[in-house]
Amino acid sequence: MSKSIEGVIASPGIVIGKAYIYRGDNIIIPKYNITDDQIEKEIKRYDESLAKTKEEIKAIQSQIATSLSNDMADIFKSHLMVLEDPYLDQKVRETISKEKRNAEWVLNDITLQLIQSLKSIEDEYLRERIIDISDINKRLINNLQKTHDESLADLKEEVIVIATDLTPSDTAMMNKKYVLGFITDRGGRTSHTAIMARALEIPAIVGSQVATSLIKHGDIIILDAIHGKVIVNPSRDEINEYEKYREDLKQLEDELAAIIELPSHTIDNETIYIYGNIEIPDEMNIIRDHGAQGIGLFRSEFLFLDKSLPDEEKQFEEYKKVVEFFNPHPVTIRTLDIGGDKIYAFTKQYKERNPFLGCRAIRFSLENEFLFRPQLRAILRASAFGNVKLMFPMISSVEELLKAKSILYEEMENLQKLGIPFNQNLPVGIMIEVPSAAINIDIFCKYCDFFSVGTNDLVQYTLAVDRISEKIAYLYNPLNLAVLRLLKLIADVSNQNNISLSICGEMAGEPKYTMLLLGLGYRQLSMSSAFMYQIKRIIRSVTIEECKDMVNNLMQLDNTYDIENAMMDVLNKKFPNLFFK
Ligand code: PEP
Ligand code: MG
Repeated sequence: MSKSIEGVIASPGIVIGKAYIYRGDNIIIPKYNITDDQIEKEIKRYDESLAKTKEEIKAIQSQIATSLSNDMADIFKSHLMVLEDPYLDQKVRETISKEKRNAEWVLNDITLQLIQSLKSIEDEYLRERIIDISDINKRLINNLQKTHDESLADLKEEVIVIATDLTPSDTAMMNKKYVLGFITDRGGRTSHTAIMARALEIPAIVGSQVATSLIKHGDIIILDAIHGKVIVNPSRDEINEYEKYREDLKQLEDELAAIIELPSHTIDNETIYIYGNIEIPDEMNIIRDHGAQGIGLFRSEFLFLDKSLPDEEKQFEEYKKVVEFFNPHPVTIRTLDIGGDKIYAFTKQYKERNPFLGCRAIRFSLENEFLFRPQLRAILRASAFGNVKLMFPMISSVEELLKAKSILYEEMENLQKLGIPFNQNLPVGIMIEVPSAAINIDIFCKYCDFFSVGTNDLVQYTLAVDRISEKIAYLYNPLNLAVLRLLKLIADVSNQNNISLSICGEMAGEPKYTMLLLGLGYRQLSMSSAFMYQIKRIIRSVTIEECKDMVNNLMQLDNTYDIENAMMDVLNKKFPNLFFK
């Protein structure tokens, strides 16, 4: 019998393949039933892991005995005692046979029960054994799963990766040739892992909460990232049905692709610019092939994934490559936005309690001028080769912006003195992604050439909802009236002041929000390639007037669900065949 799991669509598409459980730094406890004839094999797995764990502990013991002392090595005696405890050992074997469950699950369950009973005992010595027991449990489970402990860069066959969570760097490093798709327990649609999946066009579902406990290594999976569903060990009929569905989708996509040749304007002739978001320069081909008219957001921090930091020269080469490729179209390069869920090898030392509210983005750059200045110089130098715009992320006050600009001007002077060419009139703008910047938008008009609205963060900070949390994902809704009011304020004030305005949060790349954004006054949308065709089709099928009418009606409603329903009513009537998810 197949099982079905639901989750949040991070990147659209449908794939069918074998599950590969990726543990990263996490311990994953799969839970599944076994049949009578698998019992013996399961107990053998347990025996092997027991033997391996004993070996490991003995090796640690002798290493400590030589490097430190015999007394210190004796600490591990109690670990061995736990491992050799006949009661525990017997109980694990019996439970595997009786309950017909996998060894990891049985072992973990028995350990948790034991820990629970020890917790209630008033004996310090026994209580201290809790740490030994959980350490041993971890080791045993680790060894049970050792068979497939590889890095995602070393995959040798096509798989669907299943993980508790993936970091943006795990995703960036994936061997795209072999990763058909991925499913995680944690994460939300605007986590950077999800953004990366869209950028690489890898179908993905995040926030499933249970994938790692219900899916085993080697299971056959249908990853349906169109409806947000995963089918584990599907029947032949289900596979046939999905294969057919996949072909239909491909055909639809090919038909939509013809739209590239057509201009991007509304029925009433208002030009709407479609730009691309990129994370790594390699994505520029996909973006141009989808018909984008430039780059509205180049997330430069992804160049910093490696342990060795890219120097000015390396960055210059990377920026120049993209800038020349799109010339004369614009390329908006955003300075480092490190922090939040983008913690890299070299920032691990800055562990913070509230990373999204901490030393992130421009705050990090202003504190680390040794990284900021070379980046500014690299961007400035690239500006001599095409149409570059420079953007600062997460600006929350004018002081911060002025400080960043003064450093930029110093670097301009430095280049000038050295006779190195750059665009003296380089447009300088900011992300509007913190409520304080949105509220003070009139003030920022005095100091900026352009704005780009980052709804991923604007929604998170306005609603106080962590953008990567699967638990409160239901609260993360860009249609909350507070967000709509801010978006309208930003558009109204920027348009009155003739400040170029674009929007580059994930909202801009979701077809269901296109009419809303046009009605609010946005004319430049920057997005991943995933839905560019659909969005262009919507643009070409509407008038600005009807978008404005829709927005006026929606903004009379108080409740987010009413707003969503009213918006979907309009869309479903107007586009009965376009899929909105
Ligand atoms: C945003 O916050 O909307 C944005 C585009 O930036 P990032 O997702 O990189 O934080
Ligand atoms: Mg942001």
